[in-house]
Parts: sequence; structure tokens; C-alpha cells
Amino acid sequence: MGTRLLSKGKEPTPSSHFPRVSNADPAVRKSPICVLRETPTNRYSVNVLVGLIQQAGLPWVVARSGAEVVRLASGAGRAFALYSFMTPDLPTVRAEVAALRPRLPGVRWLAGGAHPTADPEGTLAMGFDHVVVGEAERVLGPFLRDGDGPSVLRDPDGGPPDLDPYPARVAGRPGPVEITRGCRGGCRFCSVGRRRVRHRGLPTVVAAARAMVTEGRRVIRFVTPDALAYGGGLKAVADLLAALRTAGAEPVLGAFPSEVRPERVTPEAVALLRTHCHNRTLVIGGQSGSDRVLRFLGRGHTVDDVVQAAARARRGGLRPHVDLIFGIPGETSEEQAATVELARLLQREHGAKIHAHYFHPLPGTPLWGADPTPLDPKTRAFLERAERAGTLDGDWRAQIALAQDLREWASRGWIRAKSTSRPDVPTS
Ligand code: SF4
Repeated sequence: MGTRLLSKGKEPTPSSHFPRVSNADPAVRKSPICVLRETPTNRYSVNVLVGLIQQAGLPWVVARSGAEVVRLASGAGRAFALYSFMTPDLPTVRAEVAALRPRLPGVRWLAGGAHPTADPEGTLAMGFDHVVVGEAERVLGPFLRDGDGPSVLRDPDGGPPDLDPYPARVAGRPGPVEITRGCRGGCRFCSVGRRRVRHRGLPTVVAAARAMVTEGRRVIRFVTPDALAYGGGLKAVADLLAALRTAGAEPVLGAFPSEVRPERVTPEAVALLRTHCHNRTLVIGGQSGSDRVLRFLGRGHTVDDVVQAAARARRGGLRPHVDLIFGIPGETSEEQAATVELARLLQREHGAKIHAHYFHPLPGTPLWGADPTPLDPKTRAFLERAERAGTLDGDWRAQIALAQDLREWASRGWIRAKSTSRPDVPTS
């Protein structure tokens, strides 16, 4: 996967509003109720949590505001308030927990997700009683059923060896199906790398898709860090896409929340996606126009791989949408200019749209604590012009502010994760 992991992670808003669903009926209310705080940026994570809570046979309800947390948890007897969040949401969650916790003295506060995993100590200091570090499948249900446990909950093996025993979807809650978890890559801006790769089995994915089609959702998206690596290679991707089509689904693969690594974009792969998939764009992780910077990032591909991938996508009938990061630590002005040149070439020669990011070091990544390189005025002018022309999008402006915020949050002690990367950042 690429820089969408870096970004604020806003999820596409489903066209239909979620129905208020819960299983908090009196028959199962002897157990503590789980109040899941849902926000526009954590719906997919809430889906996963709901699946696990349902599987554990526990009552749950979704709260879409702090006021709803209070209303639902205070009338519930024993309750857990569950928050899953990413680092950009830290101030909002922090303020909400500080305001609500005194009003809900009997409630136990539980956090999980990308930020709490990266900074359990800082998360506990915010007022949470417990933090799930890493994958929740084998720790969440037993903890909630017992009603108590250590402050840091962690699967000793890092997560289950097999995803199939755990729900791939939740009835009535739209969202993508996770087909692959973990990545062997080690990109320094990413917290997903160097984790065991597990693929959900084809029958499980197809069964989930069939159920979604029955609910009236034919267009189905997938979560994977490396879309063309599903099942170990293109044959498995082909089998999956064909089976999804037979099940009546219109799969979206190689577009958010899945994307592709450039070196996997062969003419055969593009033809496969073009034949079976609903999407007419292909999201390619490009990241930099400098081979030295790509090596520093640990990407494992070259600039030429990015150009070839965009060319093949275009020739095969998919519009390339290429992630590029500006302001990588240690990037020289020449290297930043090379990324601008790459963007121009991709736009001009291959009809690409650029998804622009400004580097912001996130806790839990090897580059946490590293300083971004400022944007050159010429780079900024290019980004603004291309944005106006409709050939570039992305949250790069917000990420410039976020990079400053991250430094401030760390200096205030809101983030306590240790930085390990500074000495590694070369200057040329
Ligand atoms: S480590 Fe894996 S998931 Fe993360 S950006 Fe690199 S290839 Fe993508």
C-alpha cells in the first residue's frame, strides 16, 4: 500500500446513512454493553469491532457523538466505551474523553486502532483504562466477556494466523471487506510494514460478497495493502475476481481502500482489473521522483517502475492515480524538483492524476520524529496550479499543518511514543 496510510484516512461516505443497529436487547443485557464511538474516519474499524463483539455474543450499540456516548452508556448499568482512532484525531478524542469520563464513573474506557497501538502509554494517560495494542481478534472478546484485564491488551502472537474464523462483514453496515492483512515491505513512513501477511480465503470473501449483494450492494470494495498480491499472485486475484463476478458483485480493486505497488502493474494485471472491476482508475504508490529517496524510504521499486506502471495502466484502459509524497526527510531541493517533474510527466504522457501528500511523521512508523523537508515555493506553486487544473488532489495542505501539530502534541506529552529514526535520515 502507499501513502493513503499516511493520510488522515477519511473513509468514503456511503450514500445511504447507516441504520441505527445494535443487539442491545434485554435478552443479552446481563453483560456490560459496548458503546462504540463512531466518527467519519473510523467507520470501517467500527465494523470490524462490531463483528468481533457480535461473535463474542455481547450487546453493543453505536454512538455518533459524545452526547450519545453519555446517553447510551449512562442508562446501561455496566458499560464499555470503545474508541478506535488514528493520530490526526488525537485532540478530538482527548478532549471528548476528558469531558465525558467524569460524567460516566462506572464506565470502562477502551482504546484501539492505529494511534493507541503506536502509543499505548500516551493513550492510557489520556484517560483510557485499557488499550488494545495491535490486532484485536483474539483479545477483545475474552476481555469484554471477563469484564476486566490488564491495562495493555496484546495478542502474544501479534494476531491470529488465519482471518477466516473472524467476520468479514457485518449485516446492515456497509464497508469494504478486508482480503489481506500485513505487508512484507518496510516503507519507513508506514506502520503496516514488516507484518505477517494473511489472506482471507476465497470462499469466505465470496460468501461475504454474496451476502452484500443480497442486501442490495453490488459494488464492493476491499481492504488490502497490496491489491495485486492477493493469495500470492495474479492467478489468485483472477480466481477471486471471477468468483466475485459470478456472485453478482462488481468488485473495486486497485482503488481506495486498496492500491497497487508499481512493479506489480503488468499488462496482464491491468487487463484483469479492466475486465472484472468496477473501477476505471488504478491507484499506484509512486511516492518520489528520486531513486535515492525511494531507496531511503525502503520502497523496493524505482522511479522507472512508477512511469511504466502508469503507462501500462493507461494503455490498458485505467486512469493512473499516483500517490506522491513531498517533503520527505532529507530530501534535497533537486530531489523535490524531481518529484514535481515526475508528476508533470505522469500527467502529460500518461493522463495521470496525482494524489499529493506532504510528509508528516506518524508514531508507530520508523520515521516518527523525523523532520519534514519544507516545501519549495516552486513545488507549492505547482501543487496549487495542478489542483486548480483538476489534475491533482490529496490532503497535502492539511498535512502541512498536521506535521506541525504532531511536533506540538509530542512536546506537550500528548504523544509519548519514542522516536527512533532521527539518526537515520541522510541529508543527501
Ligand atoms: S510497508 Fe507495505 S503497506 Fe506500507 S506503504 Fe510499504 S508496501 Fe504499502
